[in-house]
Amino acid sequence: MAEPELVDVVVVGLGVGGDEVAGKLAEAGLSVVGIERDLVGGECPYWGCVPSKMMIRAANALAEARRVDGLAGTAQVRPDWAPVAKRIREEATDTWDDRVAVDRFVGRGGTFVRGSGRLDGPGRVRVGDRVFQARYGVVLGTGTRPSIPPLPGLADTPYWTNHQAIEVEELPASLLSLGGGAIGLELAQVFARFGVQVTVLERSERVLAVEEPESSEVAAAALRADGVTIETGVGAERVSHDGQHFTVHAAGGAEFTAERLLVVTGRRAHLAELGLDTVGMDPDQRYLPVDDRMRAGDGIWAVGDLTGEGAFTHIAMYQAAIVVADLLDHARRATAGPDPSGTASVVGGAVGAASGVPAAGGPASAGSGSAGSGTAASGAVGSGVAGSGAVGAGVGGPQGVARADYLALPRVTFTDPEIGAVGLTERQARERGLNVQVGFAELASSTRGWIHRGDGFIKLVADADRGVLVGATSAGPAGGEVLAGLVVAVHAAVPISQLRHMIYAYPTFHRAIETALHDLR
Ligand SMILES: Cc1cc2nc3c(=O)[nH]c(=O)nc-3n(C[C@H](O)[C@H](O)[C@H](O)COP(=O)(O)OP(=O)(O)OC[C@H]3O[C@@H](n4cnc5c(N)ncnc54)[C@H](O)[C@@H]3O)c2cc1C
Repeated sequence: MAEPELVDVVVVGLGVGGDEVAGKLAEAGLSVVGIERDLVGGECPYWGCVPSKMMIRAANALAEARRVDGLAGTAQVRPDWAPVAKRIREEATDTWDDRVAVDRFVGRGGTFVRGSGRLDGPGRVRVGDRVFQARYGVVLGTGTRPSIPPLPGLADTPYWTNHQAIEVEELPASLLSLGGGAIGLELAQVFARFGVQVTVLERSERVLAVEEPESSEVAAAALRADGVTIETGVGAERVSHDGQHFTVHAAGGAEFTAERLLVVTGRRAHLAELGLDTVGMDPDQRYLPVDDRMRAGDGIWAVGDLTGEGAFTHIAMYQAAIVVADLLDHARRATAGPDPSGTASVVGGAVGAASGVPAAGGPASAGSGSAGSGTAASGAVGSGVAGSGAVGAGVGGPQGVARADYLALPRVTFTDPEIGAVGLTERQARERGLNVQVGFAELASSTRGWIHRGDGFIKLVADADRGVLVGATSAGPAGGEVLAGLVVAVHAAVPISQLRHMIYAYPTFHRAIETALHDLR
């Protein structure tokens, strides 16, 4: 057995969350080993948020050009996928090469190891024939992978996950999307706008089933207007492939056929691979539960999708900031005893000095993405969403370390119109027994919405007893951007009376919020 190499922290999985934690801890002066088996940066820059939003940007440009007729003259649009594929290859992913991201991590002071990491007892991680013993802690940031339903026949077919859909160079003539959640709808609309015959098959009675029913209606109507066929309540029973086409055989004898099959039926963590049993933890859980400081167990922290707290890059970054602050606090206490001031500093050097490792020099927020070559994968996720400097800036717990709080969790489905939501849906609020009030306004009730001819709405969910919003949805041409004000309202529990007395700029989309506030009942 290899002699364990002693380091301060081992981070397994350098996706959005793990890369951020590992880089920040290394900058703070800790000796950090970061282990990644695929590409540093993870799903978001290579097969998720960034390339999919590039696709959406292109598809929306087509849609906007098609709106010229009757509004501003005439326009002829000839879609071409080639520039989209090229942009994803060259600008987003460096042709799926993480060299720049690896260099950036090493430049921040980390030690990089390519391979699959696995716990091998308390504080110990094995990767290939190397074993690392962590002085302060192990951070798991291994994310999720597509959850493939156990449909007979499916495994033997060349179905697509988001990976093949993002990497596609030439579009198929037709596509079935098995799954009508956010990812399925975003990709379905993109491909339809580029001329692909798309059918969405959704098991639930409505697409986007986790959001408000009104959101499902708006999204379904928009996709149908783009030529997408939406079939809900479809219980897929088996899949066949004849070498050219896929057929999904559904309950009741219905069959759906297309050239490609995209499976987007959710994602799952693969805990069984992580050696959790060697530290007395249950590897058979769906996700790895963590406390509000992201601690999964003694000396083990977890970050990102595998915690099951919401599969979003902004959640991974939010959690990463908490992990960094808590781990630095833990390391400082372990080395130097309690801080008489009772506060945890996460500025570079504070722990470095304690652990005998020279400080990286400069604040923990410095440098994210700065070494990038300009591609999104090499820097944009880190620098754009990093929340740089936010570490430790949140509301402090007893020890000054920010605690995770998901009450105002924002999420955006980037269909056109965009559907942004924060906090509780009406149904969730009622299930919690709140004294619920709901306010609604069509976007067209605002002058800007009417001028724009854009579909959408604002829906507010209030706790009447407290006089605050606990949830909201903003659907519209800029639904994800309009959401920001609603996130502040939910996050800071701004009194509704105060929201009603705000001044809303005329004629913006967000004036519909004011209308919805006056509709609360
Ligand atoms: C198509 C698509 C679009 C999306 N769009 C958005 C969006 O618009 N906005 C948004 O906020 N989110 C979006 N997401 C979600 C976002 O990508 C994830 O929430 C984010 O990537 C989670 O980061 P993570 O660090 O938890 O995991 P990941 O990014 O999945 O990274 C985990 C890393 O761990 C590595 N790994 C796993 N096991 C091991 C092991 N044993 N040893 C070593 N390495 C290991 C993996 O190779 C991977 O690189 C999208 C996702 C998809 C699929």
